[in-house]
Amino acid sequence: MERYYSLNQYFKNKYGEKVGKLSLDGGFSCPNRDGTLSTAGCIFCSEKGSGDFTNSGLSIRDQIERQKKVAKNKWKVSKFVAYFQAFTNTYGPVDILRKIYYQVLDDPEIVGLAIATRADCLSDEILDLLEELSKLTDLWIEIGMQSVKEETIDYINRGYSHKYLDQKLKILRKRKIKFLLHVIFGLPGEDEKDMLVSINYLNESGAFGIKIHSLYIQNDSVLYKKYLEDDFTILTKDQYTDLVVQALGLLNDDIVVHRITGDGDKNKLVAPLWSADKLSVIGEINRKLKIVNTKKERE
Ligand code: SF4
Repeated sequence: MERYYSLNQYFKNKYGEKVGKLSLDGGFSCPNRDGTLSTAGCIFCSEKGSGDFTNSGLSIRDQIERQKKVAKNKWKVSKFVAYFQAFTNTYGPVDILRKIYYQVLDDPEIVGLAIATRADCLSDEILDLLEELSKLTDLWIEIGMQSVKEETIDYINRGYSHKYLDQKLKILRKRKIKFLLHVIFGLPGEDEKDMLVSINYLNESGAFGIKIHSLYIQNDSVLYKKYLEDDFTILTKDQYTDLVVQALGLLNDDIVVHRITGDGDKNKLVAPLWSADKLSVIGEINRKLKIVNTKKERE
C-alpha cells in the first residue's frame, strides 16, 4: 500500500501487471562531459554518466537480454520499459537515434521507452522523432531539473539555466511528449523552502513524473572534491525523509512518483552512508506518511 502514485501503480493501472525496467547504456556522451560545454559535467555526475547500473560495454541487445533475465528471475515480469539511462541519450544524429530506438521497440516484450536527456539536446528534428515514437509506445523523457533556483543550477554546473528548461518544457507539453523531472534534495545553499518551491514548480509544469533523491557523493565525482573543500552539510536521514513526506503531500495526485530515494554505486559512495540502505529510507518515508496521513492509501 502506498500513499502516493507510484510507478508500480501506474504500470498496474496501464498494463494490469508489474513491468520491469531495463537500464541501458546506448553508448552516448554528453555535451557537459565531452568538452562542448565542459569536461567536468554536473558536479554529481559519476564516471558512468549517472548510469552506474547499466551493463556498458555490451551491445544494446545483449544488455537487454542480460537485464531481462535478471528481472524475470527476480520479479517474474514479462513486460519491460527500456530505460536509456547513461549520459545524454538524445545527444547524437537523429538517424542514429531513430535506429537505436526502433531496434529496441522491435522487441515484443518492450512496452515503453524512457530516455534520460538534457533540455539543450532536444532539437526540432529530435522532438519530431520523440513525438512520432510517443504515438507508438509509452514514451517519456527524463530531465535533470534538480532545482528551480538559478544559483543552484550554476553551482552544479548543469550548463543551461532553469529559464531555458522552463521554455523547453512548454514545447514538450505542446507536442504532448511526456516528461519526468529529477529533483535533488540537500543541494548546497538550499533550504527547505527552496526544495519545496521546486516541487510546486513541478506541479505547474505538466510533468508526467518525478524522481526525488538526496544529494549523495561518490568518490568519482567533482562533488567529492567540493565536499572536501567547501565542507557543506549533508542531510540526515531524518531531515531527508521529512522533506520527502512534505513534498509528496504537496505533489499533484496525477504525477507518477518514480523514485523517492537515490542509489549510487555503494563501492564509491562517500556520504551520506544512510542512503546506501534504500529499503530503510523507503520504509521510513512510508512510516512517516502513515503518521501524517498524507493522502489516502492507494490499492
Ligand atoms: S547531464 Fe547527465 S551525463 Fe551530462 S554531466 Fe550532467 S549528470 Fe552527467
